[in-house]
Amino acid sequence: MPARIVDASFVTSASKIEEAPPEGIGEVVFLGRSNVGKSSLLNSLTHRKGLAKKSATPGKTRLINYFDVTYKEDETGEKYRIHFVDLPGFGYAKVSKSMKYEWQRSLNAFIKNRRTIRLFVHLRDARHPNERIDDEVRDYIATFIGPDQCYLEVFTKSDKLNQKELGALLRDHPGALVVSNLKKRGIEKLERLIFDIVIKGAPCP
Ligand code: GDP
Repeated sequence: MPARIVDASFVTSASKIEEAPPEGIGEVVFLGRSNVGKSSLLNSLTHRKGLAKKSATPGKTRLINYFDVTYKEDETGEKYRIHFVDLPGFGYAKVSKSMKYEWQRSLNAFIKNRRTIRLFVHLRDARHPNERIDDEVRDYIATFIGPDQCYLEVFTKSDKLNQKELGALLRDHPGALVVSNLKKRGIEKLERLIFDIVIKGAPCP
């Protein structure tokens, strides 16, 4: 492990772009359908139980949460700060309309023109790998993603799949990462990948 997260804290919740922290340090945006396991993953990644949940006020689920995350490089002992940006889950409504009309519109300002975003981490449920709304989100991000930004598909709850199903999933989604919060599978790999891309400027996977 060349670098790991040694500190993480809540910065602020923003409901409009003016409330976002000033642009400066590199940012990782986490997005996914409600219940995909985003809070659990953020807590696993940062080794902070309750970090993601703590900041979320019930009934105010549409806020964007910013976290200050510190990585420490093993070899040099050097520390690097980045932001984790936790977007509201989408697709919660009984029948989600096309994401264009809700989620996309309200989040446009946060994700389209913020050049400090280095990486979009799109969480998808390994048990439902071909949800239309997820395909729409992927295609939407592809319409504006810049040359200095990466997109990464991460399938959660991989503990629910057997080997054969996992194989099929990775065949259908080459380049995707598979994780399990429950079994702590793939978490360190993601932790490292984020460091390499955001801090070291590594090429997109
Ligand atoms: P969020 O709405 O995306 O923030 O999702 P949560 O982190 O709150 O998780 C939603 C539900 O999925 C909870 O009941 C979690 O315990 C469960 N969950 C999260 N990660 C995993 C995982 O890796 N495996 C399994 N089996 N369940 C998980």
